[in-house]
Amino acid sequence: MNTRIYCLNENQEENREYLEEAAAVLREGGLVAFPTETVYGLGGNGLNPEASRKIYEAKGRPSDNPLILHIAHRRELDSLVSRIPEEAELLMKKFWPGPMTLIFEKSDLVPRETTGGLSTVAIRMPSHPGARALIEAAGLPIAAPSANLSGRPSPTTARHVAEDLDGRIDMILDGGPVEIGLESTIIDVSGSVPMILRPGYISQEQIRDLLGACEWDPAILKKPGEDFRPKAPGMKYRHYAPKAEMVIVEGEWERAAKEICRLVSEQKKLGRKVGILCGEETRKWYTEGLVKTIGTRQREETIAHNLYYCLREFDEADVDVIYSESFGEGALGAAVMNRLLKAAGYRVIKV
Ligand code: AMP
Ligand code: MG
Repeated sequence: MNTRIYCLNENQEENREYLEEAAAVLREGGLVAFPTETVYGLGGNGLNPEASRKIYEAKGRPSDNPLILHIAHRRELDSLVSRIPEEAELLMKKFWPGPMTLIFEKSDLVPRETTGGLSTVAIRMPSHPGARALIEAAGLPIAAPSANLSGRPSPTTARHVAEDLDGRIDMILDGGPVEIGLESTIIDVSGSVPMILRPGYISQEQIRDLLGACEWDPAILKKPGEDFRPKAPGMKYRHYAPKAEMVIVEGEWERAAKEICRLVSEQKKLGRKVGILCGEETRKWYTEGLVKTIGTRQREETIAHNLYYCLREFDEADVDVIYSESFGEGALGAAVMNRLLKAAGYRVIKV
């Protein structure tokens, strides 16, 4: 398949021709990757079981891992869900459009192929103007998981999408690098107390401030086991992962850096190519290996923004092993560590 790639302009009027073409592809059951404020999404008609099957196939994604439906306006929600709890109304008023996905009881309109066989459906209204214009032009709820091959780090640029999906999908809309760089916060509002299933840019604290109560799926920062399954089916897969083996070294900054330096020397002696993922503040302590600065701990959004980008750069450099500092501080700490722990297959050394 020939994948068409178009660059989006800031001015949506100038994108009209591309958006119309992309909308037609979606209406005909094809696949279009597009930018959102979180990561790039791989869009298909969420009401068409065949389009959902194509998404799973293009990504190599297990078909029990449900897709998120993207809408452009609040009114589009009503026909997709069977009940809208009061907490959901409050959350939507405050955080939509934006990086927040809500889980509702689904209506009969939504096919089980889209929800991985579940009776609930995940819905988000993105704020990215290009994403919104595309959904509007298509006139459909767009099922859109991250536009990467299953198991690879999520794409934050159109080049990442092309690396994984060129030749497998109809079109890529290039809107430049995304703003946030981590997937949306997922909140299940179908139960008695709202529960975060995947942490993201919108934090538990912000949700508690609004609703009072908000629980937290314990699987978010722990390795899932036989008796311990995450509530979002996708969270059980080793995900977001670079090709290299990855280890997180956790502890006081200088002690952690010393341990990383020791491990790097050891690995180099074995002839292995080593990568280091560190904060700007601790960069000065590393003299060996391929060192990548993920961002500054003073502004955690820089760390979220660059995480997947850095993991892909390590892939390009063909490193054998990556040692990463831990970045669990602040409001975004849980979201960053959730991705980092999965990328590392939960390998952590505490010092
Ligand atoms: P991605 O599309 O790659 O951002 O992944 C979507 C995430 O949302 C996966 O972790 C899914 O398991 C989760 N998800 C989607 N729909 C549901 C649902 N109905 N219930 C629980 N989790 C869901
Ligand atoms: Mg994904």
